[in-house]
Amino acid sequence: MGAEEKLVVGGYVRSDVEPFRRLRRLRMTETIRGMVRETELSPKDFIYPLFVVTGSNIRHEVSSMPGVHQMSVDQIVRECVDVKALGIPAVIFFGIPDEKDDVGSAAYDENGIVQQAIRAVKREIPELYLVTDVCLCEYTSHGHCGIVRGSEIVNDESIELLAKEALSHVQAGADMVAPSDMFDGRVRAIRMMLDEHGFQNIPIMSYAAKYASGFYGPFREAAESTPKFGDRRSHQMDPANGDEAIREVEQDIIEGADIVMVKPATPYLDIIYRVKQKFHMPTAAYNVSGEYSLVKAAAAQGWVDGERVMMEMLTGIKRAGADLILTYFAKEAARYLNRRGG
Ligand SMILES: [Zn+2]
Repeated sequence: MGAEEKLVVGGYVRSDVEPFRRLRRLRMTETIRGMVRETELSPKDFIYPLFVVTGSNIRHEVSSMPGVHQMSVDQIVRECVDVKALGIPAVIFFGIPDEKDDVGSAAYDENGIVQQAIRAVKREIPELYLVTDVCLCEYTSHGHCGIVRGSEIVNDESIELLAKEALSHVQAGADMVAPSDMFDGRVRAIRMMLDEHGFQNIPIMSYAAKYASGFYGPFREAAESTPKFGDRRSHQMDPANGDEAIREVEQDIIEGADIVMVKPATPYLDIIYRVKQKFHMPTAAYNVSGEYSLVKAAAAQGWVDGERVMMEMLTGIKRAGADLILTYFAKEAARYLNRRGG
């Protein structure tokens, strides 16, 4: 091929000086790899989930999630000091009440377990950003996310209770609320409730595309929220659907969501990517309990290098488009990054 007959392939000029491009040149040393790295994780990307129980001095490890504990409020405060020191800016609370009933009253009780935890942590570490999970399934005797009538989980009455729950969290001092139920109209109901009470500046992070997933198994043990009958397929999404996720996310944005979340993360990287590309919204991904436990279990067997797989997983989630990652790996990953000066 002569100099005049350069072949343009994918925007690059191919010449006879360089018959093929040596892409490996930029991989030869750690220094150059670091210089051209596209995705860098930081502890600032993480939100650490915490499970609050009643009592004091309780630190009960969830057997299916090694390293993850249900903790009483005093222990939660200590944990939050550690989280802050690692450079993680935020936590998300899940409450496990003593008393459950069919309307989840403990969820919107001003002395509920999450409300107590918020006040205690805000007193000690006011800069830590407190997010709360807003749902009823940890608080209902039947374990469903809303009010049940016959065999139906009813939508419109349930979202009124979710709005009450969100308000109660914010009145206790929460910085952001995160509805996880997947009922229709909940973001709007919560936005209206918060605005009516003068909380216009409290953002909503909606679990916008939440799938009916087998990866939630270990969480149900941690949050003691397994439904007593039926499942969550009437409100959570079918894992086979992608376009529907776009419609769900769009609806939450219209209703007032400030951050939109995809859950789980790694089996749904295409959804994270599509959501980010389409809406350009701050996008969160929930790296759920099953994703965590699979890595932990395989690492315990010596089948994978747990730390390496963890970092690869989190990097993949960020590369797909997530700005924020809710993950049980937050502390471990932050320690790794801090050690590496990252
Ligand atoms: Zn729920």
